[in-house]
Amino acid sequence: MIVLKGRVVDGNGGPPIPDGAVVLEGNKIKLVCRQSELPPYPNAQVYTAENATILPGLIEAHTHMGWGSAVAVDWVSITPQLSMARALRDLSQLREQGYTAIRDLGSDVILLRPAVAEGLLDVPRIFGAGKIITQIGGHGDAYQRLTLEASLHTYSPAIIANGVDEVRRACRINMRNGADLIKIMTTGGVFSQGDRATPHSHFSQEEIRAAVEEAENMGSYVTTHAQANRGILLALQNGVKCIEHGFYLDERCIELMVKNGCYLVPTLAIMHASKCYFEKKPDVLPYLREKTQQSYEAHYRSLELARKAHIPVGVGCDFLGDESFGCSYQDATLELERLETAGFTPMEILTMATRVNSRLLQMEDQLGTLEPGKLADVLLVSGHPDEHISVLRNADNVKLVIQDGRVVKNLL
Ligand SMILES: [Zn+2]
Repeated sequence: MIVLKGRVVDGNGGPPIPDGAVVLEGNKIKLVCRQSELPPYPNAQVYTAENATILPGLIEAHTHMGWGSAVAVDWVSITPQLSMARALRDLSQLREQGYTAIRDLGSDVILLRPAVAEGLLDVPRIFGAGKIITQIGGHGDAYQRLTLEASLHTYSPAIIANGVDEVRRACRINMRNGADLIKIMTTGGVFSQGDRATPHSHFSQEEIRAAVEEAENMGSYVTTHAQANRGILLALQNGVKCIEHGFYLDERCIELMVKNGCYLVPTLAIMHASKCYFEKKPDVLPYLREKTQQSYEAHYRSLELARKAHIPVGVGCDFLGDESFGCSYQDATLELERLETAGFTPMEILTMATRVNSRLLQMEDQLGTLEPGKLADVLLVSGHPDEHISVLRNADNVKLVIQDGRVVKNLL
């Protein structure tokens, strides 16, 4: 049995319990209460710290484990072995900062789960979409100077699918590998060469509906990489439940998102990292620089529309594990700070990174808040992240990480 003492921020967004306690038994939360109400547990291991805040394990809702580079041409030469080695580095960097679960939106990291189940790996909980599903010339067909033949056969975090039958096949391949959700690409993107940031969409209505039907058949949903307005709208009109990025939302998109109960995961951090990179190195990767410049301001305007309409916003950095580009997973909490810049309060951001993100995992009954009966993924942090979100930018402030009832990081 473990007892944590400190201010309790339970992930529901209400005021913290100032002199709180959280009791863990096995891999579950047993009790959340005031210290004055705490029954005696003579054999419990007790943890506390000065200025301690206890909160649910953070969830990172938009990862790409193991890519290792922000440059499309590098993805051509990666092997599955190198990618998995990088994924293990990325996973351990995330957990150092207090992330106890990920929602991966394009990689083979879900294939590591049997190794986790065998006890060979100790990493955050892995949920994911498997490989991205993209059309020919889409955002997942990333290095478009390759011949199409080569593009179809290079090891890649994407499946290139054209037509309803190929989309269904790609969905079923992912499900066969254990995918928890389906990720499609209904627009081009910043990091792929050749496609555009200007108004356009990828995939037909029929292809999108086929993916949605396949996802719903397995009790899940489709999320889409969608930046340009036309591709966002097309996805929303055809049953997609979550928009990643959403640079160019408008009132029509917002209306549909509210009506259909859709989520937005803006991924501000990757765009900010790009902007900072190009301020230092204006002459490299012109395609990337131009697309970043075109969409940076629009991104924040879109998010403001979503915030005002109370659309649930998930927290994901969309980093690519590339330190030289400034998008290494040891900086994943940059997303929390960018969301504050975008107008959310620290408490709102914590709720988004825990409770809202647990819904994106379809795990809200087991993760995301500190409540009796839920799984014991709990952090003890030095400082008050619900007042100053930047406390979480320094992993040294994350004193204790407990996942599934086990202490997996301990600086106390
Ligand atoms: Zn992404």
